[in-house]
Amino acid sequence: MARATCGIYEALWLARLHHGSARSLYLHIPFCVRKCAYCDFSSWATARHDPLLGAYASALSRLTWQAHDAGLLQGLETAYIGGGTPTMLGDELAALAGGVRELAPGLKELTCEANPDSLTDRLLGRLSAAGCTRLSLGVQSLNDRELCELGRLHDAALAEERLRAAVASGMDVSCDLMCAIPEQTEMSWERSLHTALSCGVGHLSVYPLQIEEGTPFDERYGASEQPWNDSSVQAARMEAAGRVLSEAGLARYEVASYAKPGKECLHNKAYWTAVPYLGIGTGASSMLTREAYERLVSLAPQLPQAPGDISRIRLTCTTSRDAVASAKSFADLSFDLEMLSPAQAAAEDLMLGMRMVQGVGPGLLVHARTQLGSAALDEAVDWCVDRGLASWQGQRLAPTEQGWLLGNELYGRLWDLAPDEVLEA
Ligand code: SF4
Repeated sequence: MARATCGIYEALWLARLHHGSARSLYLHIPFCVRKCAYCDFSSWATARHDPLLGAYASALSRLTWQAHDAGLLQGLETAYIGGGTPTMLGDELAALAGGVRELAPGLKELTCEANPDSLTDRLLGRLSAAGCTRLSLGVQSLNDRELCELGRLHDAALAEERLRAAVASGMDVSCDLMCAIPEQTEMSWERSLHTALSCGVGHLSVYPLQIEEGTPFDERYGASEQPWNDSSVQAARMEAAGRVLSEAGLARYEVASYAKPGKECLHNKAYWTAVPYLGIGTGASSMLTREAYERLVSLAPQLPQAPGDISRIRLTCTTSRDAVASAKSFADLSFDLEMLSPAQAAAEDLMLGMRMVQGVGPGLLVHARTQLGSAALDEAVDWCVDRGLASWQGQRLAPTEQGWLLGNELYGRLWDLAPDEVLEA
């Protein structure tokens, strides 16, 4: 590539590494009616009428406005209210979403996660009126025996009916489905996929179940590999999903995500393309540039200054739900931090970019070359290509199907380019 062209590509990539604000916002709602048997997310069983729900939602709204007033949300493009079960908040969820729309009227996408058992017609109307553009429904399966094994609250009929109602509301709708689960057969998996498609959803996320430590599934099934969850079943189910969904006109754009044209999730794409984001709430993660982090420090003086050689800061909010609900400002919150050098951030961006079908482009590749060294980068890329984990598509390096199936090898080799240990605080 000509030197001048390299410079332009790198300058374009560098611009996003120095945004002075977060371009994406995530609000975490850590409440569920009860815990599903496989779940280790940051959420806790909570009574539907517990006053903590309202207090917590008000605190998120307060903190979001403070971030906005400090310039931390300038140029915000996407927002996502996830959980947990955001729809447990009822009208307060609509109020929270409406507040986000008010502070960032130019948002390109505003998503709320929803569970079928708490997504009422009234709430659908309120979310649409509040300016939500997208709903992501946690359905997981459209088979009653499988739903029962997973410990979900809804049955297949309710999930299907709520998917149809969500689509009829006019918002974009995504459906999460899980494969390689107990009771699932090839036929029941394909039936779940076809049923979701018949409801008119424009986006599907499909995941193989992972048995996480400390969950009821872990106690029940332990470390021994289950026939319904082994790696060959996971691969076969993901392959079947690819076939069924592509026949229906949904293209895969990320390892677990399929969309009709124009229905890709912009918020999730931001996570994989070095766009800085701010997460607010118990367990919420943020990824900020050095410049945006300095703005956060002006709101949260308990945070340490970033040393001079740091360009990216990752934060996880460790404050409990009760303490978030009573927080007056960011100064009342606590965080775990990871601070990355420009070279570590470049290795991380390579790894995250390979989750997407389009892989990584010349902007990041030129930048990574300057940060990580040509010899080390070429060696890692050749290693991935030689093993069939990645291939060149013009000027882009993209993952292969094999690369996704052996994701740990692909991502691990690219992350290994990062020099030194990440600084934790
Ligand atoms: S509804 Fe979602 S977040 Fe809540 S327990 Fe089930 S899987 Fe976890």
